[in-house]
Amino acid sequence: MGALKYLIIHCTATPQGREVSSGELRKWHTDPVSKGGRGWSQVGYTDMFHLDGRVERLVRNNEDMTVDAFEATNGASGYNDKSRHIVYVGGLDKDAKTTKDTRTPAQLESLERYVKDFHSRFHLVRIIGHNEISSKACPSFDVQQWLKEIGINQ
Ligand SMILES: [Zn+2]
Repeated sequence: MGALKYLIIHCTATPQGREVSSGELRKWHTDPVSKGGRGWSQVGYTDMFHLDGRVERLVRNNEDMTVDAFEATNGASGYNDKSRHIVYVGGLDKDAKTTKDTRTPAQLESLERYVKDFHSRFHLVRIIGHNEISSKACPSFDVQQWLKEIGINQ
């Protein structure tokens, strides 16, 4: 495993207003493909931002600059040994067809608090959206624009 280089923001790609439990998310990622999961050995993200702003830690992390094997999550292949992945619940319109920034006021607040704290501790780690390293819509908002709005210059 390597040095921490990226904090990558994701969405669960679920409809606006629909809560997702960590158990549900874990099943989607770690259930065998034959059972409709992705068959991963670990869930995709370290921390999960619920609709009410609560931050749930999914995978143990010792908060240092090294991505240890026990900390690695599966958010984006090729990046997992140098990244921490975080996810907010949402990212799709109510019809579940259109990508949309569905962050609730509580999620916006806790995500801002988290990212600011993270940036103050790891100012050399670049904060990006999944869509900056992959041709995906995830996390359904422009992370660089949002970082500027909340006063983070990286
Ligand atoms: Zn993603």
